[in-house]
Amino acid sequence: MLIIPKKTPPVETHWQKELANSFTTLDSLLEYLRIDPSSLPPALSNDAFSNNNNINIIPTQNDISIIEQHNNARRLFPMRVPKPFADLMQQSNWYDPLLQQVVPQQAEFVDKLGFVADPLQEQNGTTAGLIHKYKSRVLLLVRGGCAINCRYCFRRHFPYQDNQLGQAQYQSVLEYINNDTNINEVIFSGGDPLMANDKQLAKLAQKVDNITHIKRLRIHTRLPVVIPSRVNNELLAWLTNLRIKPIIVLHINHKNEIGEALIEKTKMLKQAGVTLLNQSVLLKNINDSAEEICELSEALFEANILPYYLHMFDPVKGAAHFDVSKPDAQKIMAKVITRLPGFLVPKLVQELPRQPGKTPIDLGLEP
Ligand SMILES: *Cc1c(COP(=O)(O)O)cnc(C)c1O
Ligand code: SF4
Repeated sequence: MLIIPKKTPPVETHWQKELANSFTTLDSLLEYLRIDPSSLPPALSNDAFSNNNNINIIPTQNDISIIEQHNNARRLFPMRVPKPFADLMQQSNWYDPLLQQVVPQQAEFVDKLGFVADPLQEQNGTTAGLIHKYKSRVLLLVRGGCAINCRYCFRRHFPYQDNQLGQAQYQSVLEYINNDTNINEVIFSGGDPLMANDKQLAKLAQKVDNITHIKRLRIHTRLPVVIPSRVNNELLAWLTNLRIKPIIVLHINHKNEIGEALIEKTKMLKQAGVTLLNQSVLLKNINDSAEEICELSEALFEANILPYYLHMFDPVKGAAHFDVSKPDAQKIMAKVITRLPGFLVPKLVQELPRQPGKTPIDLGLEP
């Protein structure tokens, strides 16, 4: 009898399949969540803004449905929501804090004064594939694009196609790091660096590891949160086979983003010796209360992750509806500090152009 060998699928198929199966239209996601489109609150109208001359809004088309009005915002920034993340959302709740981070909204057409395409002024003077703003750390744009598109993303207008780290740039980027002994930490960023495959990442990490003045490798990623299967044996193997110390900074904004599957993975990462930190963005109607921040910190610790930064929202064009004012943010932090042990208090920071690091604003001490 002829035995047909079972084709062994490539090891990475699982997470890549999950990625390919992401929701990319509002209709399909709402159907999955059993949200009746006719139950949506009315979209913004011009009248809502007519008294504020800082705001321009693209006129609402009254002849199309609310769902189409929202769905149109995909033209500004594509919609992308992996299924494991959708599974963490509540059914039948348009106001679900996870859904509200990723759902295209007609409000994205609002053009508010001070909300710009490049709030951090990163798009000027960037060496292709590299951002070196803070003396001891350098950020590598390993991969443009993410597994999920967060509507508040400050890089939603970033020209990734000009800044992706291709083979051609590898050499000059590594040379740059090699020539600057002030740099002791390399950060893989993006987009999401874990969108790259493990073979590529292993190779790059090894080259960084060979630079003797580098002490740490940090990875800024949201992928394990939105597709936990991304944390596979291949990733663990290259990450823990280095001389330099591995750190993963996750991006979680709300306690509901921490599911069983993620907890299992963070346990594996911790056992492998990876330091796990988290950064969040303070977002209106999603996590802008002391209760939410405290509950998030507690849930993070349960999952072996320490809170690191709570970022003030960067004023990016098309996302002004997520903005929390600085006084409100400081009021939240004043309460958080009284309720949590110090190691569970994230540092409230703002990223200001031309500063030597992120600026803590918990106590109003910004320059
Ligand atoms: C945030 C950031 C870093 C890292 O800053 P830490 O305070 O070390 O977390 C490095 N480079 C750039 C460009 C950044 O935006
Ligand atoms: S994962 Fe991070 S970089 Fe990617 S869209 Fe979301 S906020 Fe932006």
